[in-house]
Amino acid sequence: MIREFRNFIAGEWVVPTTGEYFENVNPADGGDVIGRFPLSGRADVERAVASAERGFEQWRKTPAPLRGDVLRRVGDLLAARKEEIADLMTREMGKPLAETRGDVQEGIDTAYYAAVEGRRLFGHTVPSELRNKWAMSFRRPIGVAGIVTPFNFPMAIPTWKMFPALVCGNACVFKPAEDVPHTGAVLVEIMLEAGLPPEVIQLVHGVGETVGAAIVAHPKVPVVSFTGSTETGAKVGETCGRMHKRLSLEMGGKNAQIVLDDADLDLALEGVLWGAFGTTGQRCTATSRLIVQGGVHDRLVDMLVDRVRGLRLGDGRQPGTDVGPLIHAEAVQKVERYVQVGLQEGAHLTVGGARATEGELAKGTFFQPTIFTGVKAGSRLEQEEIFGPVLSVIRVDSADEAFAVNNGVRYGLSSSLYTRNIELAFRAMSELDNGITYVNAPTIGAEAHLPFGGVKQTGNGHREGGWEVYEFYSETKVCYVDYSGALQRAQIDTYGD
Ligand code: NAD
Repeated sequence: MIREFRNFIAGEWVVPTTGEYFENVNPADGGDVIGRFPLSGRADVERAVASAERGFEQWRKTPAPLRGDVLRRVGDLLAARKEEIADLMTREMGKPLAETRGDVQEGIDTAYYAAVEGRRLFGHTVPSELRNKWAMSFRRPIGVAGIVTPFNFPMAIPTWKMFPALVCGNACVFKPAEDVPHTGAVLVEIMLEAGLPPEVIQLVHGVGETVGAAIVAHPKVPVVSFTGSTETGAKVGETCGRMHKRLSLEMGGKNAQIVLDDADLDLALEGVLWGAFGTTGQRCTATSRLIVQGGVHDRLVDMLVDRVRGLRLGDGRQPGTDVGPLIHAEAVQKVERYVQVGLQEGAHLTVGGARATEGELAKGTFFQPTIFTGVKAGSRLEQEEIFGPVLSVIRVDSADEAFAVNNGVRYGLSSSLYTRNIELAFRAMSELDNGITYVNAPTIGAEAHLPFGGVKQTGNGHREGGWEVYEFYSETKVCYVDYSGALQRAQIDTYGD
């Protein structure tokens, strides 16, 4: 019996109005069907938004510290169920258990951070230009937030968005990626169990072009937070721009690890292995480019190839697995296309380059960890997001050239620099065009209480995580209180009188 899941709309677990479902399949084993999930339609989104508006009216009046208390209980429940959630997440998403545990932990950390923010949400009190007048600002919730998320962090990314949105007093309509609906459903269950009023959260499963687009375009959804590809983000941005919505976009990356001649090569090697092949290269911050200075290039490539050949592919729920499957067959085809692009562009395929189909791997969507050397700056392989286990190695002569190559792409999420030269490290921090730069650490490894996001075509200027996201989910309200008992005209109207 395959389990049939439901949407959570208007305070109830309900079947979709379409009566249709899609299958959620384990990427490590295509024969393992996790469940049937609602293929919802526009009418489901309509009901969800109408209910969320009612939820918002109630929730906005709940004091923010009490809203924070709910999030603290969410954190406790996530912690209690961490192992179980990691297991079901690996089953639907593929990455090894060590990584899905980390994904849940990010949700726990984000919940506890949000709980405390419920006691802050600072405004400002500043001196007025006039006597007997008080001037201050504070923050108000916005309304119903549309939350559209990708497959690669099934827990962390929805929590990055919904927890701050909720602490700020908004209601959420949540559409998880169609590849990872089970984790999304469990998260909503936990939020309800923690005491979130039912109409404050709505869960609508389905495909992006239908459900995602309907949420984004709904006139009663004034704030939208999207994470996904730059191409989808452009569509979301068009709609939100036309409708004057507040929008946060977190999109693609082409992140580089730079290794200079004076680097600790053993450290750099561990960094690139984790950055490039962790999560099978399917992290927005994954290391897709390795920019290496000439003096250490050949040695580092030899060390790297040796270690990559030893990486163990497999089901992420099996002990000893280093690299799980890609999310689905289309992702495999995309990686295959980029291998062809690399070969046509004259890059040297040093290791990998094909599907992995030996034994049990034939059941899933596995691809060999792949390294191209001799990749030219400006080539498609070096410029375009692949989102798979493919690393392009680019040789450079100097730190200046390395920085220029790092900056020569349209994305700007994360970068990493390995050097022992403190002057170059500080130059890199200011000159690399990325939202995040790591020194002597890989391109991945963000912490929940710091702002996360990218520049250029990775984002649109907002950040997730940390303190900044609370500004995104609230409106600044300014109030002046005049207690002079007389009409006081503003300073601009009386200055010099
Ligand atoms: P995707 O763009 O295919 O899908 C993301 C979400 O958008 C899904 O829920 C999907 O159903 C929905 N969607 C699709 N079409 C839509 C439409 N027309 N309107 C509204 N919603 C729509 O991305 P994906 O394959 O799930 O994730 C991979 C991408 O996400 C990569 O590009 C990666 O770099 C990016 N990503 C970025 C960050 C970041 O913080 N910058 C984090 C994780 C992933």
